[in-house]
Amino acid sequence: MCMQYKMVQEHPEHQCLQCGEAIYGRPDKKFCNDHCRAEWHNHRGHQSLKLLKLRHIHGLEKNRAILLSFLERDIRSVSVEELALLGFRFDCVSAHFLINGHNEYGCLDMRYRKTAAKVCRIEQVPVML
Ligand SMILES: [Zn+2]
Repeated sequence: MCMQYKMVQEHPEHQCLQCGEAIYGRPDKKFCNDHCRAEWHNHRGHQSLKLLKLRHIHGLEKNRAILLSFLERDIRSVSVEELALLGFRFDCVSAHFLINGHNEYGCLDMRYRKTAAKVCRIEQVPVML
């Protein structure tokens, strides 16, 4: 009985996902203890949130650059199609206003009105903190 137990101990089938320590016992066990399980899940959660934030910030910066490139050429109205072709991400906005039934969006210091077909009234607004 004692020998059998020792053999199992010496041949762990897998390692803890968090710390890499050998895991003994049930083959479906992924962590050596509750602390490692919590650490792993916390870390994973933070990583996903961090990635989500980075993607959003990147999207906002890209959108801003696209809008600014039009504004610099004094173009204040662009088709949704053209913006999409340039990689504009309509899901990346920093503000949404409903003004007199019109959807207006903020993208950092840029503002624009959006209809189904076009983006218009592109403007740069002063940043207020
Ligand atoms: Zn562990």
